Amino acid sequence: MMRHIFKCGNCKKYTMKETCDCGNKTLFSRPVKYTPNDKFSSYKRKAKIEQYVKRGLL
Ligand SMILES: [Zn+2]
Repeated sequence: MMRHIFKCGNCKKYTMKETCDCGNKTLFSRPVKYTPNDKFSSYKRKAKIEQYVKRGLL
């Protein structure tokens, strides 16, 4: 499910609309995939993917 998420700089609210309910134009906001303190789990995920590649599964 990929949706464009916008953020209102005025209310600091996330919305699907290009214009906030307050009338302020919203800014495009990319969804955050990983949190900054998620290094260990993303490393594990990468190692797992490398294993799959070595086995020719990907
Ligand atoms: Zn707003």
